[in-house]
Amino acid sequence: MSYVFAPPPVVAVPVVGSSETFAVRRIYCVGRNYEAHAREMGHDPDREPPFFFGKPADAVLYVAPGETGEFPYPSLSKNVHFEMELVAAIGKGGKNIPEDAALGHVYGYALGLDMTRRDLQAEAKKLGRPWDTAKGFDHSAPIGPIHPVGSGAHVGQGAIWLSVNGEEKQRSDVSQLIWSVAETIAYLSTLFELQPGDLIFTGTPEGVGAVVKGDVMQGGVDGLGELNVRVI
Ligand code: MN
Repeated sequence: MSYVFAPPPVVAVPVVGSSETFAVRRIYCVGRNYEAHAREMGHDPDREPPFFFGKPADAVLYVAPGETGEFPYPSLSKNVHFEMELVAAIGKGGKNIPEDAALGHVYGYALGLDMTRRDLQAEAKKLGRPWDTAKGFDHSAPIGPIHPVGSGAHVGQGAIWLSVNGEEKQRSDVSQLIWSVAETIAYLSTLFELQPGDLIFTGTPEGVGAVVKGDVMQGGVDGLGELNVRVI
């Protein structure tokens, strides 16, 4: 078997404490999954069913611990926002996964930024158009290494925060997720058959805002280190 052109490289994220890497299949993202963020975006945070959008796997921008990644400011936007998120990495696939078994499908957790062309998203919302250009652009998913759960604990609580140029912008706690990681996996697996390699961006807390070229974003979740990204 030969190809008419070389297949694209496998997108892979390093795993903490291992020489093996995590090959990314799909990126799913949860919308409005913290109450105060739903409110700041103009929505009533009643517990309506979760909703999802996607990013292409090759939107991943891997940033090693201790390094500062470089996020190219995307074209055709004048309002690019950060959204700091806990990312769940799926290690075992399935569909219609029961909530009480869902965490058994998680291989590990990572820090992620759901970078967003907010102006294009607002226009898409107004016109009833898809969000792909707002959410799924190149390099729109900066991510740190994956911390395997192993025999350790799942990330059910702990601070989630982000600062820009040293000034704190977002701070909440993962326990404030409207739909927990387990509930999200259970629901998402009724829509799609999950597979190993899927990443789930679980949503961002309140305090989202714009960045400009030269800004340095620094974000974290307790136990997962820090993610540092400069806008270039
Ligand atoms: Mn998001």
